[in-house]
Amino acid sequence: MEALRVLELYSGIGGMHYALKGSSIPAEVVAAVDVNTTANEVYKHNFSGTALWPKTIEGITLNDFNKLKFDMVLMSPPCQPFTRIGLQGDVSDPRTKSFLYFLDILPRLNQLPKFILLENVKGFETSSARDALIRTLKECGYKFQEFLISPTCLGIPNSRLRYFLIAKASPELFCFETTTEIMETFPSSHSAKATEVLDSVDRDFDGCRNGKLGSQPVHVGQGGNTVVFKLETARDLERKHRQDNDGSVEMLQSFLEESQDFSQYLLPPKTLLRYAILMDIVRPTCRRSVCFTKGYGHYVEGTGSVLQTCLDTEIETAFRSLDMLSDEEKLKQLSMLKLRYFTPREIANLLGFPADFCFPEKTSTKQQYRLLGNSLNAHVVARLLKLLVA
Ligand code: SAH
Repeated sequence: MEALRVLELYSGIGGMHYALKGSSIPAEVVAAVDVNTTANEVYKHNFSGTALWPKTIEGITLNDFNKLKFDMVLMSPPCQPFTRIGLQGDVSDPRTKSFLYFLDILPRLNQLPKFILLENVKGFETSSARDALIRTLKECGYKFQEFLISPTCLGIPNSRLRYFLIAKASPELFCFETTTEIMETFPSSHSAKATEVLDSVDRDFDGCRNGKLGSQPVHVGQGGNTVVFKLETARDLERKHRQDNDGSVEMLQSFLEESQDFSQYLLPPKTLLRYAILMDIVRPTCRRSVCFTKGYGHYVEGTGSVLQTCLDTEIETAFRSLDMLSDEEKLKQLSMLKLRYFTPREIANLLGFPADFCFPEKTSTKQQYRLLGNSLNAHVVARLLKLLVA
C-alpha cells in the first residue's frame, strides 16, 4: 500500500499523529495546522520533520488545500461550543467557524479525501455542527459511522467518553456493518472485550461496560442514593468497586512513574481542606480514573482523579467525622493519604502517547496539563483508523 497523505487539522500536541503511527497504517502527515503557539512548540519538538502551519484554518485557501493532495483528514475541532458544562453556542459560537469553513471547502476540492476521522466531546452528536457535517458527507457520497467510545473499552483505566466519526468515500465499503445508530463499542470481531454487552449503570459514566461483576459486589438496596462518606452514595461506591475488580481493565500502577520526587505534585493544604470531599481518589491498584481535563492540577472539581500514595490508611478513615474537626485536625487526618496529582507523563501514558513523547523544557506544568487535557486517547483513535482503512 502506498503511503497515505494525511492532513491533520487542529493538531494540538499531535494526538492524531501518534494514533496514526500506532495504527501502523503506511502514512505521512503532509501538513498539521493549529493556531496555538504553545501546542505548536510541543508538536514541533516531537515531530520536527512534519510541516506545521501555525495559522487559522479559515486562512487556508481552496487552492492551498488542493495542493496538499491529501487522502485522509484527521481533526478534533474545538469542543467548547459543545460541552455539557459550556454554553453550547454550537454553530453560533465563533470557535465553530473554522469547522464550517472546512465543511464548505470539502465538496469543492479537486479530489475528495478517501478517509475522514473526527473527534469531539460527548454532546457533539446532538449539535447543529454535527448535522452540517452529516449533510456535507452525504452530499459528497461518503459512508460513515458515528461512535461514543471511552478508553475503558480497550482495557485502559481512564474514562474519556468521546464522539468519533469515521467516513469513507464511495465506492469503498467498511469492513463492518454500519448503522445509523451511534455505536458505543467497537464493532465485533475486533475485540472480545469490546463486544461485551453494555451495562446501563456504567453507560453514562464510561460509555462502555467494564466486564464482569467484581467477586464481592457491594449490595445496593433502596438506600442506594444515600451518602455513605465524602459525597459518595452506596451506588457510586458499588460502581467503583465493580470497576476496580474488573480484570479486563489494567491497574493504574502500570501507567505510573516509578522513582521520582513527587513533592511538587502533592495536593496543597488549602486544596485539601476545601476540595477533598469532592475529589475522585484512586489507588495504584484501582482500574479506573476520571477524565483528565485542561484545568487539572489547579481546578480540582471534576478535572481528573488524584492518587492516594500512602496506602496504610483507608479513605473512609481519613474522611471520618471531618466536619467535627478543626482545620488543623482535618488537615492532619487528610494528609495521611498523601494525595498527589497524576504527573503530566502519567496522563500521557493513560492517553496512549509513546514513551518518546516529551515536552520542551519551557512548557510549564500547568501548560502541560492544559494541552494534555485538550488531547485525545491515541489507542482509541488508532483502533478507529484501522477500522476505517481496513
Ligand atoms: N487533537 C489535538 C487537540 C485538539 S484541541 C491534540 O491531540 O492535542 C483543538 C485545537 O484546535 C487547539 O489546539 C486549538 O489551538 C486549535 N484551533 C482552534 N481554532 C482553530 C482555528 N480556527 N484554526 C486552527 N486551529 C485552531
